[in-house]
Amino acid sequence: MPSSSPNQLNPGQSAQKTDTNTTLAELRQIMRQFVHERDWDQFHSPKNLAMSLAIETAELMEHFQWVTVEASRQLTADPSKREAIGEELADVLSYTLALANSLDLDLATIFLDKMSKNARKYPVESSRGKSDRPTP
Ligand SMILES: [Mg+2]
Repeated sequence: MPSSSPNQLNPGQSAQKTDTNTTLAELRQIMRQFVHERDWDQFHSPKNLAMSLAIETAELMEHFQWVTVEASRQLTADPSKREAIGEELADVLSYTLALANSLDLDLATIFLDKMSKNARKYPVESSRGKSDRPTP
């Protein structure tokens, strides 16, 4: 049996890991190990990672370009589109995790802090059902 570290992904393992049983820390460690094993740390500057994150986001957006709002909601009903969109979303998450690793930012802390600011900026009573708001 080949040995592997606890956070190394093996074929089929992704089927066992879900959002409900996997922590952000585990995902960050998987990303950190993937990068380290390939000696890619030297390329993972914050500049390169931020640019890569934007590029992967654009690749995700391409799937929704030129389709109607309703069609965009139905796109993932097609299994091949669902897989392709999921892979782009995974790329976005990968670079988000890599950037957080590179900058030593705690994602849970900064996400919750930002959501707290958003909640103060957009109180439910004055924001509910309204899209005419400034960008958070
Ligand atoms: Mg991609």
